[in-house]
Amino acid sequence: MARKRILITGAAGFLGSHLCDRFIKEDYHVIAMDNLITGDLRNIEHLFKLENFEFYNHDVSKFVYVPGDLDFILHFASPASPIDYLKIPIQTLKVGSLGTHNLLGLARSKNARMLIASTSEVYGDPSVNPQPEEYWGNVNPVGPRGVYDEAKRFQEAITMAYHTFHGLETRIIRIFNTYGPRMRLNDGRVLPAFIGQALRGESLTMFGDGSQTRSFCYVDDLIEGIYRLLHSDYAQPMNIGNPDEITIRQFGEEIIKLTGTDQKLISLPLPTDDPKQRRPDITKAKAILGWEPKVGRAEGLKITYEYFKSLPDKEIQHKDFTYYNKN
Ligand code: UDP
Repeated sequence: MARKRILITGAAGFLGSHLCDRFIKEDYHVIAMDNLITGDLRNIEHLFKLENFEFYNHDVSKFVYVPGDLDFILHFASPASPIDYLKIPIQTLKVGSLGTHNLLGLARSKNARMLIASTSEVYGDPSVNPQPEEYWGNVNPVGPRGVYDEAKRFQEAITMAYHTFHGLETRIIRIFNTYGPRMRLNDGRVLPAFIGQALRGESLTMFGDGSQTRSFCYVDDLIEGIYRLLHSDYAQPMNIGNPDEITIRQFGEEIIKLTGTDQKLISLPLPTDDPKQRRPDITKAKAILGWEPKVGRAEGLKITYEYFKSLPDKEIQHKDFTYYNKN
């Protein structure tokens, strides 16, 4: 039987590269696409030798075409950390809006099923906790996070419109904070920030008083959830994340213990519109996909710490957030 063909955008990024691995493992033909602004080819270079893998260096905000049949499209191209979308706000808006539109058009022309990576950011600074899919959110459209949050909200809207009006097969996953190997050490997110600081012997920069909460999902669990959602017949948005909620202060203390650093947490100002609480309600994922996370924080953090520790020292010492135009 011919291999199923899947296009993965953002393929050189953290989640995209893990998706490439998973679909290669399932014997798909994987067409990977990335413009390498925040992605890194090292995440997928082990796949280039395979005959069922190909790579396009392309910006999906511009017209997208790939030859041949497509069964599935996974749209995972987007900056995804607050530092990234503050630095490249217009690209962030474009990849979520124009990029999604281009890919929906491609999906339609190929009769492919399309899954989009949405985010818990669509809930903004939520006033209900945990967040069920029915919650409409509390987003500031003109704040610093607005470029990401509103792009993702538009992405959901246009995807649902293609589903409703064109009958396109679509899936929408709302991804909560996820971590694991291949995260960028300098992407500004709390986990790589704390681990990088511990490795360099610096204080851990806690924003605010550290009472804000997050819930961290290990990447393998997330990928399994995506795989199951793609193959389900559920077209409404679905939360995938780990409901084990923790304050950022407690999280910092866990990282101090894990790394054995003699450094302490220091408090820096809380960024504008930083959500005070975040935890997924995963009732739907459990009921519809039979999915729930399996990897606890202790185990997942250990694997991730080993990964960061194994990076070249030059990279560990490199604190600058510069990445774009590097190609
Ligand atoms: N944070 C922190 N120190 C850092 C980076 C982030 O205390 O060096 C906090 C941030 O204010 C937020 C939480 O950690 O409350 C998670 O931030 P992250 O950027 O990882 O992702 P977010 O969930 O806010 O998108």
